[in-house]
Amino acid sequence: MINTPRGTYDILPEEAKKWQLLENTLRKWCKRYQIQEIRTPIFEYTDLFQRGVGETTDIVQKEMFTFSIKNKENSDKDDIKSFTLRPEGTASTVRAFINNKLYGQPQPTKLFYMGPMFRYERPQAGRNRQFSQFGIEVFGSDHPSIDAEVISFANHIFKDLGIKNVRLEINSVGCPTCRQQHKEIMMNKLAEVREELCTDCDNRFERNPLRILDCKNEACKQLTQDAPLLSDHLCSDCDEHFKSVQKYLLALEIPFHINPRLVRGLDYYTQTAFEFMEDSIGAMSTICGGGRYNGLVEQLGGQDTPGIGFAIGLERLLLALDNNKTTIEDDYGIDVYAIALGEEAHVAVLKMIDQLREHGLDCEKDFLNRSMKAQMKAANRLKAKHTIIVGEAELADNKAIIRNMETSEQQAISFDGVVNYLLGGSK
Ligand code: ATP
Ligand code: MG
Repeated sequence: MINTPRGTYDILPEEAKKWQLLENTLRKWCKRYQIQEIRTPIFEYTDLFQRGVGETTDIVQKEMFTFSIKNKENSDKDDIKSFTLRPEGTASTVRAFINNKLYGQPQPTKLFYMGPMFRYERPQAGRNRQFSQFGIEVFGSDHPSIDAEVISFANHIFKDLGIKNVRLEINSVGCPTCRQQHKEIMMNKLAEVREELCTDCDNRFERNPLRILDCKNEACKQLTQDAPLLSDHLCSDCDEHFKSVQKYLLALEIPFHINPRLVRGLDYYTQTAFEFMEDSIGAMSTICGGGRYNGLVEQLGGQDTPGIGFAIGLERLLLALDNNKTTIEDDYGIDVYAIALGEEAHVAVLKMIDQLREHGLDCEKDFLNRSMKAQMKAANRLKAKHTIIVGEAELADNKAIIRNMETSEQQAISFDGVVNYLLGGSK
């Protein structure tokens, strides 16, 4: 027997219903906010993620599924290309924004994506190697009201899904100018404890000290307790932007906490950073992470364009849904189950349900030549509203018995009239 690869899983039909409900809710909110869908490839050139996610991130350092392929059309040369399964959606969306000149359209551009992402991580609760994200990216505005719009969009989704105990944390990571100042102060301060930091943080020390504040290691958290906070060193523009975002959130009555240690520590992440947490789902409690990235479009070869977005981990969101006992409307009863007894009867009912389906009804029939009793059982299991019954006697009369499964009323209807009867009767 062959199993799924470690860190991947099957979504079986019962579970898939939940996914569909969730996806429908997400699409509904996208329409309300006028956010349009974009679908990008599942794999890209490795370089895109190295530059777009950042060389110093965990994703690029240790979590990418990367493979190299020799260009077969060019077999003489050493033409080998490196590809990576997408670990997140922002880099691809930015690439598509640039490649397809979406900046030429009226701005802002509001895009969403939904689909599988791949990260080579140690699988555990809330952490898989293939997982799904829903995310949005908004390009072309650095007005603080759009930061609030993006956050309120996520907040509406959680509210609509009945997830009650969601916490919003926000911070500002400033801009390259204020970060440079902070970086120097931070390195001076942390030099005292550098030797006690974990190896990851030791590496971050030179390359990207701000990320040390993001370390999940308890010892590092302790050691950096008194590290200088970026929020105390914001330049006046960034400070003003941050205050404005808070003003808009207050106006929208969205509760938030300022977490000065919340960072997205790459040069192209700027100003607003935020996370939504839901504690019922365990240690991996972040269901949504996002922020502003005013330097990213330029970093990937486009014109200087502001951007902001977030990604929601859909597995964790579904876990939160279960924990909040949010039920799904379960109206999955079918319209018609057709019961046939005998070869000719199967022909007759197959034709009937074929026409009914064409008219939009959900139909099923028996395909195993089972007994009347077994077919009736199947009709009940599928919560059929009506059954069509055709046996030898009915065939001889050219009539079918239509049974209303709720009232148990039965009527004999001529074959020609069945479709009309059910189309009227099932409304
Ligand atoms: P974490 O700190 O949990 O590793 P992250 O910073 O790597 O999160 P992001 O890259 O911001 O996460 O991704 C956004 C969201 O995607 C996360 O908040 C989480 O809900 C989800 N997510 C990330 N990695 C995984 C994974 N391996 N399995 C399942 N969901 C994931
Ligand atoms: Mg991670």
